[in-house]
Amino acid sequence: MNEHPTADVATPRRTQDIIRKHGFTLKKSLGQNFLTDLNILNKIASAAKLDDTKGVLEIGPGIGALTQQLAKAAGKVVAVEIDGRLLPILEETLQPYPHATVVHGDVLKLDLDELWARHFAGCSGVSVVANLPYYVTTPIMMKLLEQKLPLEYIVVMIQREVAERMAAKPGGKEYGSLSIAVQYYAEPDVVAIVPPTVFIPQPNVDSAVIRLKLRQTPAVHVEDEALFFEVVHACFAQRRKTLSNNLLAGLFDKASKPAMESILAECGIDPVRRGETLGIDEYARLANAILAYRKQLR
Ligand code: SAM
Repeated sequence: MNEHPTADVATPRRTQDIIRKHGFTLKKSLGQNFLTDLNILNKIASAAKLDDTKGVLEIGPGIGALTQQLAKAAGKVVAVEIDGRLLPILEETLQPYPHATVVHGDVLKLDLDELWARHFAGCSGVSVVANLPYYVTTPIMMKLLEQKLPLEYIVVMIQREVAERMAAKPGGKEYGSLSIAVQYYAEPDVVAIVPPTVFIPQPNVDSAVIRLKLRQTPAVHVEDEALFFEVVHACFAQRRKTLSNNLLAGLFDKASKPAMESILAECGIDPVRRGETLGIDEYARLANAILAYRKQLR
């Protein structure tokens, strides 16, 4: 085994050695489950199709195991880490990679447009690649997608159950507002299912690597994005309720029930269907028809 201080950190022994050497204690509250398997790290890095003209934003580099593999493949890596105690460790493990920059901060609070302008101006494309802290997966993903950053791919390790919800098709119990939000902006595919044994410490759930290929334009045309997502949320508010009952509880009052029924009829959607059976195109039709009805009332 190579024991040089800047060697790949992706083995259980090296990870333990580095943690011990720096007297580092892992914080569960920051989702600190470090990856210790080089094959998995390479699978994550290669899913983003990097080359030396590309940039990568990594969220949560930890001790730098994934950052090292990303830096071998990409022209520029920016790694945002919330935990200041990891900075001296990263300085050591990333020392051979001057094109890898560590930014100390909370990714949810960072101005990503500013970060882009500062670091990625010369790149031919930029992807987000990360083993995400599971306690903030959804807010991070929604921030990345809603901000409409010029991204090629988002390749992330997340909880298996969340990955399956993101990639779910209509009709199953995994399909919901998260599936629609993700698929509106991107095409997802689950690249690998990963057991807890490759992490230190081991999480108590299975994980998955999901790749999102960002769309140039959203999957469907909607006149009003906020209303589209409001309709989606309303239709999934109570999964066992029919569309008609969910829409009445969330978006229409009793007096406008006939209008709601005629909107559904106009969209060719049976009011007794449940939210989980509607495709994203049907949600777009419904939201656009509700907007037209509201405009007509003004
Ligand atoms: N990339 C490393 C690996 O694969 O071994 C560590 C991944 S660990 C699952 C998640 C990392 O995200 C931790 O280093 C944690 O401190 C960091 N983190 C947690 N919340 C964060 C936030 N809001 N912004 C930036 N980093 C965060």
